[in-house]
Amino acid sequence: MKISELLKTKEVTISCELFPPKKGSELKKAHEVVQEMAKVKPSFMSVTYGASGGISEHTVDLANEVQNVNGVLALAHLTCASSSRDKIQEVLGELRGHKIENILALRGDIPEGLDFPLPGQYHHASELMEEIRAFGDFCIGGACYPEGHPEAESIEADIDNLKRKVEAGCEFFTTQMFFDNNILYNFLYRALKKGIEVPVVAGIMPVTNAKQIKRIASLSGTILPQRFRAIVERFAGHPAALKQAGIAYATEQIIDLIANGVGHVHIYTMNKPDVAGAIFANLSEIYQAKA
Ligand code: FAD
Repeated sequence: MKISELLKTKEVTISCELFPPKKGSELKKAHEVVQEMAKVKPSFMSVTYGASGGISEHTVDLANEVQNVNGVLALAHLTCASSSRDKIQEVLGELRGHKIENILALRGDIPEGLDFPLPGQYHHASELMEEIRAFGDFCIGGACYPEGHPEAESIEADIDNLKRKVEAGCEFFTTQMFFDNNILYNFLYRALKKGIEVPVVAGIMPVTNAKQIKRIASLSGTILPQRFRAIVERFAGHPAALKQAGIAYATEQIIDLIANGVGHVHIYTMNKPDVAGAIFANLSEIYQAKA
């Protein structure tokens, strides 16, 4: 099934995310994570592609595991910053071979030291989207940034570039994480005003450990509301309490989103089936009632 259809027909969808291992020897463990994660019955599961702009050898394998072994709709990420056009064609062929119809098409971060763009290769995600569209019969999603992409001149300019993605075939967006829902509501209003009418899936990151918080703080532009910072400060020295508070914070964000008409939510579950399980359990009635 195409995710564009799912988002049209369901009032509420809740999806989650996996990242593939770097080494092939760790694939077995990753397959176990998929199996555990599938038990919460997400609307779909996304599989990331080569963090920090690198290419990924295991995304297709894991997406196949999600969809064809565990029966959950898969969304395969694909980045192009450090890929050749031939490599992209190869991956598209593999996805087609596994009947995976949904791709989140991204530029990817530009790897340090890479002379970007590679000659004759990709500058932006929209070029990758055009190529996927030409390949035919994939549902294409893209990334958007409620607080603006760090390289963008302004949020307005960034939204103009989202329009280019829609023109290139993007049928839905998934947002970067945000910790204050008002930021998302403001972004949705601005995007709609610029004529962006494709569904936007809100990306929620349950912050469950101190390492994640450091990473988020280093992401330029992500606003951490006082309410969130207070939780981190209070529970930083108590990992189990921080995890519980992080799950509660994410749950509350999701309930507020759904109550305000943002029915499509993607949880950055970071290969943690227990975190996914806890959030889905918190939302069981809400998810069942509206899905
Ligand atoms: P683009 O859409 O190309 O945008 C990059 C910058 O260029 C923006 O500032 C934009 O405003 C500008 N721009 C876009 N189009 C144009 C144009 N036509 N002309 C001029 N300027 C333009 N990274 C990974 O490595 N692997 C993953 O699996 C992955 N998954 C992600 C999932 C989500 C939901 C999100 C939000 C991010 C993900 N990322 C991933 C990170 C992402 O690759 C980076 O944020 C990257 O820096 C930008 O990717 P993009 O697809 O948004 O790029």
